[in-house]
Amino acid sequence: MRLDYVSIFPDFFAPLALSLPGKAAASGLLDVRVHDLRTWTHDRHRTVDDSPYGGGAGMVMRPEPWGEAFDALLPDRPAPPGESRPTVVFTTPSGERFDQRLAEELASRDHLVFACGRYEGIDQRVVDHARERAEVREISLGDYVLNGGEVAALAITEAVVRLLPGFMGNAASLVEESHAESGLLEYPVYTKPPQWRGHEVPAVLRSGDHAKIAAWRHEQAVRRTAERRPDLLTPSVLDDGTPIVRAAPGDAGELLTLQRACWVQEALANDMLDIPALHESLDDVRTWLGEWDTWVVRRAGRLVGAVRGRREPGTDGEDGDLWDIGRIMVAPDLQGSGLGRALLEHIQAVAPAGVTSYVLFTGAASVRNQQMYKKAGFRLRRDLPAPPGAVVLTKRRR
Ligand code: SAM
Repeated sequence: MRLDYVSIFPDFFAPLALSLPGKAAASGLLDVRVHDLRTWTHDRHRTVDDSPYGGGAGMVMRPEPWGEAFDALLPDRPAPPGESRPTVVFTTPSGERFDQRLAEELASRDHLVFACGRYEGIDQRVVDHARERAEVREISLGDYVLNGGEVAALAITEAVVRLLPGFMGNAASLVEESHAESGLLEYPVYTKPPQWRGHEVPAVLRSGDHAKIAAWRHEQAVRRTAERRPDLLTPSVLDDGTPIVRAAPGDAGELLTLQRACWVQEALANDMLDIPALHESLDDVRTWLGEWDTWVVRRAGRLVGAVRGRREPGTDGEDGDLWDIGRIMVAPDLQGSGLGRALLEHIQAVAPAGVTSYVLFTGAASVRNQQMYKKAGFRLRRDLPAPPGAVVLTKRRR
């Protein structure tokens, strides 16, 4: 892969000669070329910036040196059929957000040219012009502003080149990494010694039982992802793009209101005013929020839907294989809109690994709810015990 970097601070790229990228360059896998943008200036001060049209703070990078840089680095004719065009990467906080998928995409290119901005950025015409001659990607490292594009270019390079065949000594190490195909964060890793400052390596990792180790690692990866990055685990969004998000402790008050609204209806439908959920206090809601994996939907700032799930403890105190689903609540004015079905689908999708069945209860007379659950693949289980006035439904996880 050929890599060109254009910057007014070429020294930033010295680290590319180190470590694995350095080795890959030495072996010919990478052809790294660093360029000082000022090479393509012609005045005594080697000027690359000027004041912005329309006024405002700061300076903008002038187009002429960039144009000459592209003349030197990009072919001046369209790529013949079957040959790929170079890709010019403009590092910019207003670009598409860089992630592992984008790293994979860039790793498939033969030639990347990184254009590193400084000051308030590069004259827009440079980007437009580059588009006429190459594939252009405007890429942001994240939602923050750096002083220049060099650090972003280095970070992007490192994520891309390690995906090239032959770059890593052991390509298998790419498979289980965070943000790899599974979409999970990586499980915690340990090495020798087995005990260190009172901390032990989990016994399962020393058991030699490969199946158990694999199961433990998967479980840990799911748990870690659920705790730290639930957005990765559950990209659930409603048809209109509204996300289903994990409830926060501060949602307790609104959940109580929603719960009362929903359970009054449930109680009336079932002729049962002693449904426990109807009589819960704010403290009760706070307590179960801490114990259940609870998800909510907001529309125009209003909490309009919620659902919760919890793994049922097994008899031996270990995590059981049942995922208990409850409190599927939809604001009265949105009932029948499909929101309940979306919440039900979501809470099944976020059940942890190892769960083999789902279980839920509903009012024996709540015909509409029962219909929805049956449509979603749940079976009415009259053979299983249920609280008074309620029925149990179960479904096997696929
Ligand atoms: N005025 C620009 C804006 O608000 O979008 C920010 C300019 S920034 C100070 C200077 C240069 O740093 C940018 O042209 C870009 O090359 C680089 N840069 C800053 N933040 C970045 C980010 N999050 N990702 C990629 N490059 C970034």
